[in-house]
Amino acid sequence: MMDSPVPPTSHPRAALDATDWALVDASDAAATLEVDSATGLSAAEATARRERFGANELDAAPPEPAWRRILRQFADPLIYLLLGAVVISAIAWLFEGARGVPIDAIVIIAIVIANAILGYVQEAKAADAVAALQGMAAVSATVVRDGRSEQVPAADLVPGDILALAEGDSVGADARLLSSSSLQIAEASLTGESVPVTKSATTLPEAVPLGDRANMVFKGTAVTQGVGRAVVTATGMQTEMGHIATMLAQTEQEPTPLQKEIAGVSRTLGIAVIVIAVVVMGAIGFTSGIGSLQDAVDVLLVGVSLAVAAVPEGLPAILSVVLSIGVQAMSRQGAIVKHLSSVETLGSASVICSDKTGTLTRNEMTMLRVHTGSGVADITGVGYAPDGDVLVDGSPLLESDPGLDLRAEDIVVLSGGTLASDAEVRQDADGSWVVVGDPTEAAFVVAERKAGLTERREQRFTRVGEVPFTSERKMMSVIVEDAEHPLDGTGRGRPVLVAKGAPDVLLQHCTRVRSGMEVTDLTDDDRRRVQASVDSMSAQALRTLAVAYRPLETDEHASATDAAGDFDPEAGLALEEGLIFVGTVGIIDPPRSEAATAIAAAHRAGIRVVMITGDHPSTALRIAQELGIAAAGDRAIAGPELDAMDADALRAAARDVSVFARVAPEHKLQIIDALQADGQVVSMTGDGVNDAPALKKADIGVAMGITGTEVSKEAAAMILTDDNFATIVAAVRQGRVIFGNIRKFLRYLLSSNMGEVLTMFFGVMLAGYLGLTGHGESIVVPLLATQILWINLITDSGPALAMGVDAETEDVMARPPRRADERVIDGQMWSGIIAIGAVMAIVTLLAIDIFLPGGLIEGSEDVETARTAAFTTLVLAQLFNALNSRSERVSAFHRLFSNRWLWAALAFGVVTQVLVVHVPLLQTAFGTAPLAPGQWLVCVALASVVLWFDELRKVGIRALERRR
Ligand code: ATP
Repeated sequence: MMDSPVPPTSHPRAALDATDWALVDASDAAATLEVDSATGLSAAEATARRERFGANELDAAPPEPAWRRILRQFADPLIYLLLGAVVISAIAWLFEGARGVPIDAIVIIAIVIANAILGYVQEAKAADAVAALQGMAAVSATVVRDGRSEQVPAADLVPGDILALAEGDSVGADARLLSSSSLQIAEASLTGESVPVTKSATTLPEAVPLGDRANMVFKGTAVTQGVGRAVVTATGMQTEMGHIATMLAQTEQEPTPLQKEIAGVSRTLGIAVIVIAVVVMGAIGFTSGIGSLQDAVDVLLVGVSLAVAAVPEGLPAILSVVLSIGVQAMSRQGAIVKHLSSVETLGSASVICSDKTGTLTRNEMTMLRVHTGSGVADITGVGYAPDGDVLVDGSPLLESDPGLDLRAEDIVVLSGGTLASDAEVRQDADGSWVVVGDPTEAAFVVAERKAGLTERREQRFTRVGEVPFTSERKMMSVIVEDAEHPLDGTGRGRPVLVAKGAPDVLLQHCTRVRSGMEVTDLTDDDRRRVQASVDSMSAQALRTLAVAYRPLETDEHASATDAAGDFDPEAGLALEEGLIFVGTVGIIDPPRSEAATAIAAAHRAGIRVVMITGDHPSTALRIAQELGIAAAGDRAIAGPELDAMDADALRAAARDVSVFARVAPEHKLQIIDALQADGQVVSMTGDGVNDAPALKKADIGVAMGITGTEVSKEAAAMILTDDNFATIVAAVRQGRVIFGNIRKFLRYLLSSNMGEVLTMFFGVMLAGYLGLTGHGESIVVPLLATQILWINLITDSGPALAMGVDAETEDVMARPPRRADERVIDGQMWSGIIAIGAVMAIVTLLAIDIFLPGGLIEGSEDVETARTAAFTTLVLAQLFNALNSRSERVSAFHRLFSNRWLWAALAFGVVTQVLVVHVPLLQTAFGTAPLAPGQWLVCVALASVVLWFDELRKVGIRALERRR
């Protein structure tokens, strides 16, 4: 090995860290890091280094240990209150002689622990789901290993890896550049510098600050232009980003707006319930009189239990479980949602803006036609297999024109287009033809092969430079050397610039036109002819591209070449003038078959679909019409037209027009602004590095998992693993289903709580009328503290969770989107909750009255049995109410058995209630007495009133809806 200024990687890590790689020659850097810059590390070496250096990740704060997470489940003021009351009750028990077992205290503690375990399990499940999502959305990097380039997760990068950087990549580690071509990097995240910095591999003479190290690239920055190769010098916490980050907080998810709203509801209810509990305690004291310390403690326990039971403190936990189960379901459908909050936003999306190519269409490009000055050539064959012909007047191109003079343009168009392409078309082992690279370019490669021109072109031309395609420029060009026209003396071919791009754009760079072997000045007639060919092809939904060229003067080429002999694309821009126009091609890109259905579904759901594309307006409009995005008479607005509009005109346009064509990424931002100003919730797709701002600005930025750049994936809120428009609509549907399910369990839990509070309140207030008084009990209550806790902390949770994963009960895509500011619990839902709660309380108190002597209805049971009947009625009423809660307006009998989980939870609720009533040990714990079958029947009948009542209420709601 050559002498190197620093020790090799087998030396301690500190030595590597101390190196200023900007001062080390590129080749020395690779040698020092013990890697061959052409072939990269071997897989084995990469694994070994991964072991030695660890994952390329910034350290997060250590995860919270399990014991602390368990303890946190108890960290709730109401639970403190309850435990406080339990402690007081235990002390009272001791003071009063410690007779028997302090049953209440033990049972309450057991219930609180069971509840905490439930909370812990739910939280862990939600956290796992979120972690899995983050794994799926992880950034990847292209490296050269074992001589091949491959995609690896950025976390697997090791010092010595050879990184291949391209536009749109997110730089995965700190690295020393080995070579570059017009490489520009946005380093704002590291240095704060907002303008992208130009990078090159040249060694620096002296140490300079971070922002000036032009031959280094740094983790966490983004490639905005060009390509480069670099050798990784530092990973993980050793990177510059690691130095400033030192400690990243654990990726904790912000509470979503919904979670915040629900936390607010819980808080308000909490205060109301505490007030009620105090009133209930006062009332008990007033009606029963408090004779002993034990009485006082019992009253306290009842009050506090009521408060604990009635405050839906478990709601936020259930909510995050439901949201995270929802995002898992979405990821199975191909939509990776990065934050739980997007689930809610998706549910209220009102406009979906989508790219055309690849998202609405298949991105399988087949060239069908070539238009030149000499006429039209048709291309047969489908897909990427080179089976087919380029036909001129019915005969293959090469046969139709043996001298090739007349149809020379076709040849220039096909071979020129291919020269200006990077795509490769290969046959897989199974015989199918696959594309590596841009499908538009592949269409040229295949057509050229069908014409039989490939070999000739390969022998004659060598590429020496490229001015890359960008979606702003909508064209690109290459410089090739033409071996058939050697330059004097040098032995090299004459340089020729060949360009391809959108015909309207390319025409602006042309001054001459070629027909046959002749080149003449470009006239207005020629322009009209080209325009006519573009119009006719785009009216048939064909994507049009044109080809032009110009032989360069030797000094022109030299002017765009740097000292090292590399072509400089910046300077190359100036050469794209005075070109010779040759011809236009038409490429078909069939719409995705599922897109039209998805668009129809979106429209039915009151969601607008807007196509935003770089393609030609007529082509875009034609495809939009085929898919149902635009109607027959609709128009498309082109980017330049947008530029000329003021804010009002733009808003009006965004409201009416569904096709925006020939747009650049910045137009997407304007369109989002206009739509959002109109109160719309906007989803926007994007794939390029320049789409990142629009993806961030949109309410739901959607990136393409297959064709999207890393930068766009980082900026997006959702990534489509299949790049498919239909997946966006599926995610919206899922978002709506989840939102609906959240409403279901809120309806369920809150009406159940309402039922308990009202039962306790009126039970105590009306004790005399119910026959509850005068049984020799020291305090008079309709339900015991342990019974209340049991209902809430144990029986309630199952149905609530089951409702969170319910299938859709109503057609969720039949309604317009929820307004973003709409509350989860609206007025109608509140009135339903109160009404159901009241019915529950009435039937529960009725059970007491029926069973006890005295009161309105005469009974003959003791107070234990009556209370057990009330307890059972309330539990069963809540289980019936679970069926009601699945919809605000549709009958509970509609799709009654569709949710297995719900039925399992209901069965669990019934079985545990039977146990609590009939197992002696539990009877002691919960103060219950066994019920006879007939008494059970009374309880079931009373409880079922909740179901019938709500059915009637729903009939009323539906009748009202019809009248509206
Ligand atoms: P979308 O924005 O819906 O993905 P798109 O792929 O048509 O649509 P761009 O990639 O910005 O959008 O392309 C815009 C125009 O640029 C195309 O209509 C085509 O004429 C031209 N074009 C596309 N790809 C190339 C390419 N590789 N080389 C030269 N010109 C191209």
